[in-house]
Amino acid sequence: MIQKIKGTMDILPEETPLWRHIEKVMREEAEKYGYGEIRTPTFENTELFVRGVGDTTDVVQKEMYTFADRDEGRSISLRPEGTASVVRALIENGKCSDPMPLKYYYIMSCFRHEKPQAGRSREFVQFGTEMFGSHSPASDATAIALANSVLKRLGLTNVKLHVNSIGCKECRPAYRSALVEYYNSHIDTLCDTCKTRLDKNPLRLLDCKNPDCHALAEGAPKTVDHLCEGCSSNFEMLKSALTAMNIDYVVDSSIVRGLDYYTGTVFEFIAEGIGAQSTVCGGGRYDGLVSSLGGPELPGIGFGMGITRLILAMRELGLDNIEGEKPLIYIAALGERAMIKGLEITERLRREGKFAECDVVGRSLKAQMKYANKKGAKYTLIIGDSEVEAGKAQLRDMESGEQSEVSLDIFTI
Ligand code: ATP
Ligand code: MG
Repeated sequence: MIQKIKGTMDILPEETPLWRHIEKVMREEAEKYGYGEIRTPTFENTELFVRGVGDTTDVVQKEMYTFADRDEGRSISLRPEGTASVVRALIENGKCSDPMPLKYYYIMSCFRHEKPQAGRSREFVQFGTEMFGSHSPASDATAIALANSVLKRLGLTNVKLHVNSIGCKECRPAYRSALVEYYNSHIDTLCDTCKTRLDKNPLRLLDCKNPDCHALAEGAPKTVDHLCEGCSSNFEMLKSALTAMNIDYVVDSSIVRGLDYYTGTVFEFIAEGIGAQSTVCGGGRYDGLVSSLGGPELPGIGFGMGITRLILAMRELGLDNIEGEKPLIYIAALGERAMIKGLEITERLRREGKFAECDVVGRSLKAQMKYANKKGAKYTLIIGDSEVEAGKAQLRDMESGEQSEVSLDIFTI
């Protein structure tokens, strides 16, 4: 038996109604906030992610699915996240001179070679949004409000918003020096990867998952204590806007985000009670990304929300029981003539827009009724050859058990 690749999943018809419900809420909320859907390719030139996500990030260093293209020999990668692709698409399709802000959302599979565990898989579906063209914290507040609104509509009262500011290129150098000094005095405790990235990108050390590095990060200098005036006043405005919008938050200096492109505002929505993979949504501002990928100076703010983790959080609150649509009517047919009559009626009902099913297996009445029950049909119509002869049959209400005689030729429901 060939099995699925470790860290991937099958989503069966029993579970897709829950997925569809979540995706529907995401689409409706995003569009209510003025975001339009974008779809980008599953794979891109590796260079896009190396430049966009950052060559010192875990995602690029350890987690990317990268391979040589069959004939051209160039290196391509399955997308590990959505932002870099959206920015590429924006530039490539000449959208950077459109009226601002530009607002895009997507629901896409992303691929990372991580250690599979609850809430962490190698292919995962992410709802992401990106807004370009505004420096104002009003855009940060809008992005956060959208994420909040999706989570609230899904009923997730166990999720809390954590916000932080990690500064811009003005305040970063001083903060960086403070960090390097701190970590240099603890260099023996660091994991090997962190030792090598200390000089290149010390901010990454704050986000390392190694337990020793994680413990060290708690005592590290805080970005909020090193913000320039601009970042500081932006952060104040963001907090005022969130309060005005009635969105609860806590300031959390441990939030730094794992990708290189973030500047200024960063945030996570963290769920209680779902184990170690508790960040259901993470995002922030990335003012240098568009220009670093060859576009103009265009600020951006966005987030990614993993659907599997949302489901874990919903399950924790018993909110995951979403059922699919059930048949209005099931036609049990006994014999060949009855089956043809059944097909005729079912098709007529479907053309009227109704959810109708007819037996196509030719089993016993008992087996057919069991099937109708399992599918949750509201009514059943039992047709045998004598009913076809008479042009009449019994329609049964499955809940009350009431039966009434109906005429087959003009039957509708
Ligand atoms: P983590 O710190 O948990 O690894 P991350 O910072 O790498 O998360 P992002 O790149 O910000 O995650 O992705 C945004 C969201 O996508 C996460 O908050 C999470 O909900 C989801 N996500 C990320 N990686 C995975 C994964 N391997 N499996 C399932 N969901 C994931
Ligand atoms: Mg990660």
